[in-house]
Amino acid sequence: MIKMLKEVTVWNVEFRQPNHTYLLNSKGQILAYARWHSNTDIDIQKSRTYLDKRYRKFIEVNHTGLSKLIPQFLKEEKDSIIKEIIPENTRVFKVKSKDKEYQVLLKNDQYSCSCIGYGYRGKCKHIDAVAEKQHVAKKQQNQKKSPSPLDILAEVC
Ligand SMILES: [Zn+2]
Repeated sequence: MIKMLKEVTVWNVEFRQPNHTYLLNSKGQILAYARWHSNTDIDIQKSRTYLDKRYRKFIEVNHTGLSKLIPQFLKEEKDSIIKEIIPENTRVFKVKSKDKEYQVLLKNDQYSCSCIGYGYRGKCKHIDAVAEKQHVAKKQQNQKKSPSPLDILAEVC
């Protein structure tokens, strides 16, 4: 979940401290921030520092400038999560089922799935669907590798 938080802290200082609007990832790290009263003056943060909320006040807002960045960060976040949980030598297949999406993993010819059914029974229709597709893909590959006699004839000529 990406959050947009506008700082509304009243600073107990003589000059007015500019409060920014922050775009945070699910861990509470700052992805970017928009400067005080600006829709376009946005700083994207390369280092992932945590927003220190102590003694400060924030409200959730919808900042149009920052919201344009959300799809890009969502993708980044998703990619990094996938990288974290997927071990090496593993292929990942996404299976859409109704309005949900499941991940079928293939490692050493062993399938596993992220759905609840697999957790209970050790098998599910998502794996079946992927296995079926893989089977067809392999068949097609094998056909390509061994050319038909007609192909060989064409080469000779
Ligand atoms: Zn499944």
